[in-house]
Amino acid sequence: MAKCEILVAFMALACCYTATAFEPKPLQDFCVADTNSAVKVNGLVCKNPTQVEANDFFFSGLHMAGNTASTPTGSTVTPVTVAQIPGLNTLGLSLARIDYGPWGIIPPHYHPRASEIFLVIEGTIEVGFVTSNPENRLISKILNKGDVFVYPVGLLHFQRNLGKTNAVAISGLSSQSPGVVTVANAVFGSNPDIGGAVLAKAFQVDINTVSQIQSKF
Ligand code: MN
Repeated sequence: MAKCEILVAFMALACCYTATAFEPKPLQDFCVADTNSAVKVNGLVCKNPTQVEANDFFFSGLHMAGNTASTPTGSTVTPVTVAQIPGLNTLGLSLARIDYGPWGIIPPHYHPRASEIFLVIEGTIEVGFVTSNPENRLISKILNKGDVFVYPVGLLHFQRNLGKTNAVAISGLSSQSPGVVTVANAVFGSNPDIGGAVLAKAFQVDINTVSQIQSKF
């Protein structure tokens, strides 16, 4: 095989890997989601482009603080994904505002489809993510107003407001629909539940302890 053929083969592989690992590149100016369509595709069906209007690319409300007082974690996430802005369909990005009450947390979770870039707007927030097995290394930092931190796709991460006052952050995510798996809810609050025998061995505790935690979710 000539050198250039090897190079072409390598480039083809690199291209396809990128295309399958992240959301595909748009093939048109936009594909505003037609939320009324019953057709199932990867993503959402495009609305007729002649009927697209400014409001398809618009959301208002991130100036408003989420209610953190009535949540068990003391935090609230206001998402701005394709569910809020149909024009995000096929574009591979979304946004969220996160409000924290005093000492509020965002519990350990991960996004199956997105990396996250996190900007502190107000307050002091402890952040961290954990690398995959077997190291499970915690990479953490204390952030202040104006600081930015990144959580790589699929890795477990969390935040905690280190203060007596409210904190606010904005996150950008590399998917129109990042998805979220909150570990405590997925493990102890699945429907139907994961058997107590599995969880007791997995967490090295007795079944009563498992039942006690399950009852909270
Ligand atoms: Mn997150």
